[in-house]
Amino acid sequence: MPNIKCTVTECAYNSNVMCDAPMIQVNHSQSEQSSTSEETQCDTFKPKS
Ligand code: SF4
Repeated sequence: MPNIKCTVTECAYNSNVMCDAPMIQVNHSQSEQSSTSEETQCDTFKPKS
């Protein structure tokens, strides 16, 4: 898996501002089509327990 920098440090997969998950899934956040990065989101996010 390539290095993925992620600032969502409240995610259980985050380690030192990098993603440690074996894979991630990114989907549209709003409609069926995204035209800006703000309209995408990581669905693999899992809150730290
Ligand atoms: S799973 Fe998504 S939100 Fe969590 S660290 Fe990886 S890229 Fe960030």
